[in-house]
Amino acid sequence: MAVADIVKRCQDMYEDLNFTYAREWKAAKAGRKVVGFLPVYAPMEMIHAAGCLPLGIFGGGDQMEVIHGDAYYQSYICRIPRSTIELGVTGRVDFVDGMIFPFVCDVIRNLSGIWKMMFPNVWSKFFDTPQNFDPSIGGDYYAVELQELREGLEQLTGRKITDDDIRRSISLYNENRRLVREVYAFRAKEPWKAPTSEVYVLMRAGLMMDVEEHNQLLKDYMAAAAAEDRPKRDNVRIAIYGSFCEQPPLNLIKSIEMAGCYVVEDDYSLVNRFITEDVPVDGDPVRNLAMSFITHSVETSCKYVPKLGEKGKYHVAQVKQCGAEGVIYATPSFCDPALLDRPMICSALTEAKIPYISFKYAENSGQMQPIREQAGTFADSIKLWS
Ligand code: SF4
Repeated sequence: MAVADIVKRCQDMYEDLNFTYAREWKAAKAGRKVVGFLPVYAPMEMIHAAGCLPLGIFGGGDQMEVIHGDAYYQSYICRIPRSTIELGVTGRVDFVDGMIFPFVCDVIRNLSGIWKMMFPNVWSKFFDTPQNFDPSIGGDYYAVELQELREGLEQLTGRKITDDDIRRSISLYNENRRLVREVYAFRAKEPWKAPTSEVYVLMRAGLMMDVEEHNQLLKDYMAAAAAEDRPKRDNVRIAIYGSFCEQPPLNLIKSIEMAGCYVVEDDYSLVNRFITEDVPVDGDPVRNLAMSFITHSVETSCKYVPKLGEKGKYHVAQVKQCGAEGVIYATPSFCDPALLDRPMICSALTEAKIPYISFKYAENSGQMQPIREQAGTFADSIKLWS
């Protein structure tokens, strides 16, 4: 398959707010169920082990006008909870049987309560991931939370999830994580062959489709992208942080690339790379999932870092590892976790002499010219003075 065909398929899925793939997947076999989840991380293995399709729901993007959703929230808040409510009240997710609201911040926590009241017939769970990363405290707690999720899914589907079911799903998602890591490594090495605007839709589509199908798609993309002859431009290599929850519009990602930046590292839609290593398959699969989260997961603003002065060190290390020359800290407007972290992360970048700029966006931002100018000037300044 050619790169353009793969990207088109993924972009069509990414733009489809009626979630046709998931609707068709469900309709293809009696008794199938779809379980939605919000950013930033959900244990897709458990949903898959229950025989359900995990469906990443990342708000309404820039394609949808929010009319009803605004009535449920104050004005000065990010857009993702409002557009998610809009998806619900307009019937776009009326086929979804369950919803998981992972802990990200109070906004998502409150959204889970609103969802329960508005859609009492849909099974939903506020999934409270730990903030204590001591294996004997946060690890034990998280294993219990995962067990509760398992029981909730069993009630939803009416069938037991065995340890072997979870092990099989872990194996498939381990392969998915390995391939995802390969795609990102390929992009960091030869970013002109795997532009982020392509990689982004490839990953977003993966959060809406069957994992085995996505594994094949990742292989196809890498083979096709490696074979394609694309010119290498005089762009600077940058990392993007702060975009882990509400996602920027695709045009914003394209604008940054068109301004002369190769994005070689980012924290967009982290779900399928939140855990950074294979989850062990032998032994207690629930404990294995819990311990992988505790000991091998990425750092984002929705994870508590207890040691003073540690915030930002992860980002500096990542920037160095992928050879980025600068950082764009791009956050959703009113995003408390990202904006509270910004001074600490930027101060760590300053200390490490890594240039950065920052700006805010909303998932429906439409004016790209200021962002293009800012990113373009940043790229030029790196070329001239770094
Ligand atoms: S964008 Fe930020 S403030 Fe809004 S729900 Fe996500 S983490 Fe919370």
